[in-house]
Amino acid sequence: MNTSDAEPRSSLSRRDLLGVAAAVPLAAPAIHAPKRRRRKGPVMVGSRNALAGMKLAYPKLLAGAAPLDAAIEVVREVEADPNDSSVGLGGIPNEDGKVVLDAACMDGTTHNSGAVAAIENILHPSEVARLVMERTDHCLIVGRGAYDFARMHGHEHVELLTDASREIWLKWKETMSDRDDRLPPPVDADEKHGSVVPSRFERHGTIHCSALSAAGEVACTTTTSGLAFKIPGRVGDSPIVGAGLYCDAEAGSAGSTGRGEAAILSNGSFAIVELMRQGRSPEEAGLEVLRRIVRQVERASKWQPALMRSDGRPAFGIQFYIVDMQGATAGVTMHGGRTYCAADPDDGPREIDLVALFD
Ligand code: ASP
Repeated sequence: MNTSDAEPRSSLSRRDLLGVAAAVPLAAPAIHAPKRRRRKGPVMVGSRNALAGMKLAYPKLLAGAAPLDAAIEVVREVEADPNDSSVGLGGIPNEDGKVVLDAACMDGTTHNSGAVAAIENILHPSEVARLVMERTDHCLIVGRGAYDFARMHGHEHVELLTDASREIWLKWKETMSDRDDRLPPPVDADEKHGSVVPSRFERHGTIHCSALSAAGEVACTTTTSGLAFKIPGRVGDSPIVGAGLYCDAEAGSAGSTGRGEAAILSNGSFAIVELMRQGRSPEEAGLEVLRRIVRQVERASKWQPALMRSDGRPAFGIQFYIVDMQGATAGVTMHGGRTYCAADPDDGPREIDLVALFD
């Protein structure tokens, strides 16, 4: 043995050791060290309205489809469904009666994303978001530019306002004020159209889907018609990377539905993924961000009291759908009584109760 190559450990002084330690980046505190669990296989997680699409797309993910292909297949179903009034075709319009959409997708393996905001007359904004990611050097294209970009790539011009969503909008318009010249609709209008105008904090709805492959590739997408009756030009969290969705193949994926302003102000999806990077489980990370949102709303309610109920809880709903890189999933919500969807090799696509911060 050549002894000159094998320096005995005892010959390193305490000073040498401290010098080496100072040069090495600090490891995360032991309590947050990521747990090494075996990956569960392909997994999907998403909002409640993702179930039908998950039943179609999950078998393909199991068979080896790319997570982004599978996630977009899930949300396409709802974008084209006229009966879901929170996404795509049949979405409740803005103040002016126009259906205006936001969507984004993210690939956590290549760390790339694409999004469109305030886009009109395009049936599948999630696919246009993917084109932004794959066919441009940009992350976000908005408004008329997003529409033109979609048309350039062959997307058809589609009227997204259905009779049902137009009736809901008309009723809102006719009943929102007794100080204008519009008279309330005839009393039988509700029976005829079943149109119920959602209250201020119930005007939400969106679809999110995250997908993780057996090989550890992760991707996600969020798509929405946004807040019902929104001010023209308002953009929610869904196309904002870090707010309405975020994924990173080093840590996991998260996406949100509900009050977009709260997801933007908390940077909620990014915060969840970062907490998982530090070793939190999907459920712990999601609940931690909900608690953070409550603290933020406590401060904001000083100038905007309607954000807080009289019992001290936020007046709005917000949900996060989460998967870590080992395939553990969670769905968390501010208030109880809601569900989300998940699929894994053991149980397939199914609806599960969200874990609520407040019952
Ligand atoms: N988060 C969406 C937005 O604020 C809407 C929703 O999920 O209800 O635009």
